[in-house]
Amino acid sequence: MTTSLWQDAPEPMRAEHDDVVIGAGIVGSYAATVLEQRGRDVALVDARFPAAGASGRNAGFVLTSQRETYPVLIEQAGRDGAREILAMVRDNVSRMRALAVEYDVPFDEGAVHLAQSRAEARDLEEWARAYEADGVPVEFAEGDPYGAGFAATMRIENDFAVQPARLTEAIAAASGATLYDHNEVHSIKSAGDHLLVAGRRAHIRCQRVFVATNGYTGNLHPYLLGIVRPVRGQILMTTPVEPLIDVAGITEYNYFRQFEDGRVLMGGARCFFEEQEYTAEDVTTPNLLENLEAYLRRWFAGIDFEVERHWAGIHGFTPDRRAAVGLIPDESRIAFALGFSGYGNSIGLLSAERMVELALDGRDPGPLSAARFA
Ligand SMILES: Cc1cc2nc3c(=O)[nH]c(=O)nc-3n(C[C@H](O)[C@H](O)[C@H](O)COP(=O)(O)OP(=O)(O)OC[C@H]3O[C@@H](n4cnc5c(N)ncnc54)[C@H](O)[C@@H]3O)c2cc1C
Repeated sequence: MTTSLWQDAPEPMRAEHDDVVIGAGIVGSYAATVLEQRGRDVALVDARFPAAGASGRNAGFVLTSQRETYPVLIEQAGRDGAREILAMVRDNVSRMRALAVEYDVPFDEGAVHLAQSRAEARDLEEWARAYEADGVPVEFAEGDPYGAGFAATMRIENDFAVQPARLTEAIAAASGATLYDHNEVHSIKSAGDHLLVAGRRAHIRCQRVFVATNGYTGNLHPYLLGIVRPVRGQILMTTPVEPLIDVAGITEYNYFRQFEDGRVLMGGARCFFEEQEYTAEDVTTPNLLENLEAYLRRWFAGIDFEVERHWAGIHGFTPDRRAAVGLIPDESRIAFALGFSGYGNSIGLLSAERMVELALDGRDPGPLSAARFA
């Protein structure tokens, strides 16, 4: 999205803060929290409102995993790099749980990875063994907990599924930052010893800017276009059905959860419509929704439902489908944490923290460093 000159407030508010965080999703809200804890005076800015983006639309899985399986992460980042990412993810999952408890946000214990075929079961087992070797409590078993006919299941201790919008809103509200909502930022300009963040409703002077706009980043800085790409995800919710799924499940291309009231959330199938889903357009499409519906009917025979609701969300994907934390090369006062590639609940908090540490302390973000795309 962009905003036109005509849509600007006639007299935009003028403000000054130490730092401006752009994007009040889970990553920006947590970055604002970390900055406030470090004694900074922070403006948290959003084009709409906290959790308006992917953080308020996702499936709520908080998994000890990333878009790529652990064996693939090892190939990409080496064993030490993969171990470091894994340690961050485990820390992130624990923090998400602690925050959900602290803010009384509903969550369901557990989640399982499922293999649909013997070949997928072999890959899942390889992943489970690699996790075990690196100290992750994990159970691999033939079959599935629903008796639905999946080939195998991997269950990792501490995984769970949360109400993601409530959690993000709570983190934003507790951060201590001043919120500027409905304030889409259209430019970040250097003005001598400070930066000027110009939005529709407010122009904010600051020392540093933290960009946490994920899949919506395109218009903020050309450098970021090469790092993060918008990819749409779609989800449907059924009318209530009998208890079928006592623990949330994720397969290579799909995911599902059932709520206490019987409704089933079903998402994924993006890879079958790849070209169509490389977009930031916030609409659902009949072909993908039909595919999700057919998936549920195929695996849960006899299930009788109607689609009650459906929505879309925009992810940010990087070229190697791992989060990217960095500074803009020719303007080191602008930091960013982007590209969670569908796993922001698993690594978003740690990425936000690494972004702050990079900007304030010069700490290398390690395997999340965006320098790998230089
Ligand atoms: C359908 C779907 C299902 C998913 N399921 C899961 C899941 O189960 N588990 C998981 O870990 N991850 C999941 N994800 C991914 C997860 O939602 C994201 O990784 C995570 O929410 C990213 O958080 P964020 O704060 O970086 O971005 P967002 O939540 O997208 O926040 C970015 C914010 O920036 C604001 N913004 C954008 N441009 C501007 C601007 N110019 N000025 C001001 N503000 C701006 C937007 O309004 C938005 O609020 C899913 C994503 C989708 C789309």
